[in-house]
Amino acid sequence: MSEVEDFLTDQEEQEIVDAITRAEQKTSGEIRVHIEEHTEKQPLQRAQEVFQSLQMDQTKNRNGVLFYVGVADHSFVILGDKGINDRVESNFWDQTKDLVVTHFKNKQYKQGLVEGVLKAGIKLKELFPYDKHSDSDELPNEISRG
Ligand code: CA
Ligand code: CA
Repeated sequence: MSEVEDFLTDQEEQEIVDAITRAEQKTSGEIRVHIEEHTEKQPLQRAQEVFQSLQMDQTKNRNGVLFYVGVADHSFVILGDKGINDRVESNFWDQTKDLVVTHFKNKQYKQGLVEGVLKAGIKLKELFPYDKHSDSDELPNEISRG
């Protein structure tokens, strides 16, 4: 099995998808998690590339948030789109990243991602509250793999 397959059990993966679904019930924002083994690129550059390839830059309010994990590289990036980055406090993503990485260091990958997703969801809810008349699930909640 590759490291990507070992990274989360099916049950853990489902818990993360459930956290994304829960978070998105309160905000128009869109959260995605992408997991891959390795990249030759800088993690931030690679996360930006994934962001585009998943069409996360196409949301109506430009409020997508990507959690990028490079398993073999031990890299982790949180990337918000323009709509949210224009409005969020400058240290918010760093704080969220610290929370996730604390769990990663203890090999609690699922727990880190769930807590990070929920923290991002609370912020998205403040900035982009859910509107039942206009919101749709613009991007799938499933974890994507590189
Ligand atoms: Ca939505
Ligand atoms: Ca979604």
